[in-house]
Amino acid sequence: MTETTEINPETPSEITFKDLDLSPEILKSLDDVGYEKPSPIQAEIIPHVSAGRDVLGQAQTGTGKTAAFALPILSKIDMSIKTPQVLVLAPTRELAIQVAEAFQKYAKHMKGFHVLPIYGGSSYDGQLRQLKRGVHVVVGTPGRVMDHMRRKTLKLDNLKTLVLDEADEMLRMGFIDDVEWVLEQTPPTRQIALFSATMPTQIRKITNNYLNKPVHVTIKGKATTAVTIRQRYWMVSGRHKLDALTRILEAETFDGIIIFVRTKTATVELAEKLQARGYSAAALNGDIAQNQREQIVNKLKKGQIDILIGTDVVARGLDVERISHVINYDVPHDTESYVHRIGRTGRAGRSGEAILFVAPREKRMLYAIERATNQRVELYVMPSTEDINNKRIEDFKQKITTTLEANGLELFSKIIEEYEEEHNIPAQEIAAALAKMVQGSEPFLLKDMPKVRAGRDEPRDLRSHGGNREYHDKPLAKGFSRYRLEVGSDLDVRSGNIVGAIANEAGIDSEFINNIVIRDDHSTVDLPEGMPDSIFKTLKKTRIAGKAINLEQVEVEFGGDEPRKRRGNFRGGGRGGDRGGRSGGGRGRPGNNRGSRSGGGERSGGGRGRGAPRRGR
Ligand code: ADP
Ligand code: MG
Repeated sequence: MTETTEINPETPSEITFKDLDLSPEILKSLDDVGYEKPSPIQAEIIPHVSAGRDVLGQAQTGTGKTAAFALPILSKIDMSIKTPQVLVLAPTRELAIQVAEAFQKYAKHMKGFHVLPIYGGSSYDGQLRQLKRGVHVVVGTPGRVMDHMRRKTLKLDNLKTLVLDEADEMLRMGFIDDVEWVLEQTPPTRQIALFSATMPTQIRKITNNYLNKPVHVTIKGKATTAVTIRQRYWMVSGRHKLDALTRILEAETFDGIIIFVRTKTATVELAEKLQARGYSAAALNGDIAQNQREQIVNKLKKGQIDILIGTDVVARGLDVERISHVINYDVPHDTESYVHRIGRTGRAGRSGEAILFVAPREKRMLYAIERATNQRVELYVMPSTEDINNKRIEDFKQKITTTLEANGLELFSKIIEEYEEEHNIPAQEIAAALAKMVQGSEPFLLKDMPKVRAGRDEPRDLRSHGGNREYHDKPLAKGFSRYRLEVGSDLDVRSGNIVGAIANEAGIDSEFINNIVIRDDHSTVDLPEGMPDSIFKTLKKTRIAGKAINLEQVEVEFGGDEPRKRRGNFRGGGRGGDRGGRSGGGRGRPGNNRGSRSGGGERSGGGRGRGAPRRGR
């Protein structure tokens, strides 16, 4: 009964937003937000939503589902009608707000457009006032929407479209009866768009019972990656990404790099920032004329450029042998585009490196990528300040050697000799002065890495000194494990010492060193799950205030919004529960996650002979 379209993102689609039946106002805001091209699900679903068909969209998080329904819906809104034409049901208050904000963003050029998020916990009165004033789109959680409908404060007589966003999540959270109730109350003529990452039976039932000859769009497709590509991730978000990137660029030995970002604007911004830091980087995006793009790619091939910052659109199909690294600065829309992206490296049988930046809220994508590539994505081991400084010194010495080996030193040699005699200064000191001249005002060595941030968005508790709290009194955030350190306030240890030691020794960004609690004889700290064994061992021996901290993991109740399935396991250490998919691999001891992928053993550790990043050509 249903038409099913399975999209295989391997076949690049040429569809642009202009090919879709979107209003000029919408196209204008798309230009503002910098989306270059519809994502696969958008390209496929938008025409059907525009045509008024019922749709069933099945795709993972981050595939761009919001715009897939919001854009065509907004293009069809009748601005003169003041009662809700569109209702979106979302599982949580956060998602409802997010979707409402997306509507607002895309409707920026639609004068007088109103979207109202309604969810529990915010006042009925405010929501009522707004409903009376007139709204075009309501986005809400099922419970609160039901309340308003029962009180007759939300009338859906003019409802044209009902969207069920993250239907499987609504089911999981026990809202499915509410959803059905709402469905029953809406006019039978309304269009339904249902989105879900998975298709459990109950969602399928709803589809069969309520959707009218729906078009079923699935974003699937086999994803395979070259086994020669090592995949690593680093948890970072927002403005900390640039810091993380520059540190990685300094630590990695690379030839050519492609950095993927989401928008055209971001390609240009990041290219400028990297150029300012001395890298030969260029942006590649769809606004650049085709022949110019080819020139840029040729420069990358010839080594005149080392780093390309691109969007999925333009970097698709790039075949440049010297690309040693792909950095996913922004997470991709789906696992398929991830596979496409990292396929730019490891070409012609070479090995390649893929590094992914994920924000804590994007963790689901990380798991999906592991499943899709059937390969572990390891935690990136950030080099410590000492590592970086040692490397700088090594590079510096190497430069001296190379220069000495080259010809043409005679003239300078003579001048130095003269200087030595005239001023009676040893050659070593003269050389030091020359090195300083070359270095300029940039400091040669890095200072300690952690920048302990202060301010209202401070996630850690840096103020607790010698508090009398037990270590289970702070909720443990998802993606973190709690550790005990055998140093406390009796040694005059402060949070700053702990952050500093862990950040430097483990190379963990201070942003991820959370919930420090210092007690008399010990302290606790929360660190990201998935700590590799080598780091764990290093940290065990790390000394603070002269005493080894003897790091131990402690068991605590999970404080997130979900019961914890497995305890005391580093992320990726086990293969149970929600990770699914594969067998074998590191079970048991926390951090026993090395070597569970082929080739992992010999590549781990610090002995990778990091060479100089090629800077500032
Ligand atoms: P989903 O609902 O599938 O999880 P979202 O709709 O939340 O995904 O979109 C994920 C992210 O992708 C958002 O930040 C959104 O702004 C961005 N995005 C959506 N469509 C595009 C596009 N065509 N080009 C670039 N970015 C996009
Ligand atoms: Mg969504």
